[in-house]
Amino acid sequence: MKNIILMGECMVELRRDVNGVIAQSFAGDVYNAGVYLKRTCPSINVQLASQVGSDTLSEQMLAAFTDEDIDSSLVLQDPQRMPGLYWVNTDASGERSFLYWRESAAARWQVENYDAAYIEKLKQADIFFFSGISIAIIQPEHRERFWEVVRELKESGVKIAFDPNYRPKLWKSVEDTKAQYDIAFSLSDIALPGVEDFDMLYGLSDFAAVETFLAPYNINEQVIKDGPNGVVVIEDSTRTFITITPVENVVDTTSAGDSFNGAYLGSRMTGGTIEAAVASAAKMAGTVIQYPGAIIPKSV
Ligand code: ADP
Repeated sequence: MKNIILMGECMVELRRDVNGVIAQSFAGDVYNAGVYLKRTCPSINVQLASQVGSDTLSEQMLAAFTDEDIDSSLVLQDPQRMPGLYWVNTDASGERSFLYWRESAAARWQVENYDAAYIEKLKQADIFFFSGISIAIIQPEHRERFWEVVRELKESGVKIAFDPNYRPKLWKSVEDTKAQYDIAFSLSDIALPGVEDFDMLYGLSDFAAVETFLAPYNINEQVIKDGPNGVVVIEDSTRTFITITPVENVVDTTSAGDSFNGAYLGSRMTGGTIEAAVASAAKMAGTVIQYPGAIIPKSV
């Protein structure tokens, strides 16, 4: 059985539903990607590497993972801490904004609990996936240890996959982010950046500029997304541009990139070509953006 491990944070999400009633769910970029990966490719074992608490919400979060067929045997529990939480605010014109309470989230301290037995389990993966948010949320004093672990995984044959997913508020400075992303790109076998993130962080706003930036790194598979403007995949120096059919009724783009990543990686892990993987990913992402929230109903 193929096995992917997605490392990062899942949070408690609160929002008002269409009736004005507060609705609670769980979301977070790597978790979202895992959910859509499993939904599109059920034969793959999808594992989360994270940390929650032992409180009621943490237990419900673990139950939600199980409900999505996500393997939570690598989700650690720290009884002293709780999960992070965010509130989705939607203004009168439909514009969304987010308020976060995540500074003390259990996931931020996960790396200090990565012992030898845990790392052995991480080594069983075919792919180890993390994002710019995963790096941003771990304690800065644990970063060195995190990179040591990623190096060890890479050396033992695990493919490293990275989506920069840039959230400025989580970083102390742009220089800090760039330095961490440099390490991440240096270690990546697969990179799945969005042009928008590159624009915010590096001022690079089109495919060509992102490709030039990534060229010096030794990244075997580069998957560059740009909303409805298409996808560029460079694999073993072969460049493929794939058009995206724009969705007319975009309701909520939350999780577009995450669902794309999940479906793309799932397809590639089960032998899909670049074209097939992008087709599956674009279909999934194109569906997700027609529904509110990060995780759309299973029945869709
Ligand atoms: P990211 O969150 O990584 O920046 P993008 O905004 O580039 O992601 O979107 C990821 C994917 O979602 C795109 O590659 C595309 O497949 C799909 N997508 C996003 N916006 C649209 C849209 N307006 N119409 C159709 N597909 C879209």
